[in-house]
Amino acid sequence: MAVTILDHPLASDILTALRHKDTSPPEFRRHTRRLGCLLVAEALSDMATDRREVATPLESAVGSALRQPVAAVAVLRAGLGLLESVLALVPDAAIGFAGVQRDEETAEPMEYYTKLPTLDQAKVLILEPMLATGGSLSWVIDKAKENGADDITAVCVVAAPEGVAFMEKNHPSVRIVVAALDRGLTPRFYITPGLGDMGDRLFGTM
Ligand code: URA
Repeated sequence: MAVTILDHPLASDILTALRHKDTSPPEFRRHTRRLGCLLVAEALSDMATDRREVATPLESAVGSALRQPVAAVAVLRAGLGLLESVLALVPDAAIGFAGVQRDEETAEPMEYYTKLPTLDQAKVLILEPMLATGGSLSWVIDKAKENGADDITAVCVVAAPEGVAFMEKNHPSVRIVVAALDRGLTPRFYITPGLGDMGDRLFGTM
């Protein structure tokens, strides 16, 4: 399985601001959007293109266009933080949502809302900022595959080794793009050192 850890001074600078416990929700959302652009650009860096001629105001030039459409599935709630970055870079991306909540005791995924576009032929990005146990991400990927997806990249902000290992076992063909691979998980399945609960930090809930 391919795991790409962003190696970029800007990504590291932004992630440090996200980790800081005193970063306010508006700032946290702004930094997430900024980091999201770097992550999404990396996630799409292996896309095939077709040659396209284009008329400039002066003459004709040779350019290129993406061969495949792009689709993104935001895993609620935290994945919403990365959605604007996808739409800023690919305004015509098809968008889906997957509402999956972890059982606080068992960490098993529990579905509460899912709405996916058709995903076959598309480059599919699954927006799951915190890859902790991998249970929720794996569950969403199963749903995406049922909807026709076969070219899938998970876009994450922070991952735990446990989550990466789980994905390796269950979805070896899925690429992971992440800003940092952290040390591990707490007994309540929070990533350490991590950045806390991403949904709470984005939306100011507790
Ligand atoms: N989800 C979060 O928001 N944070 C974690 O540390 C783990 C899962």
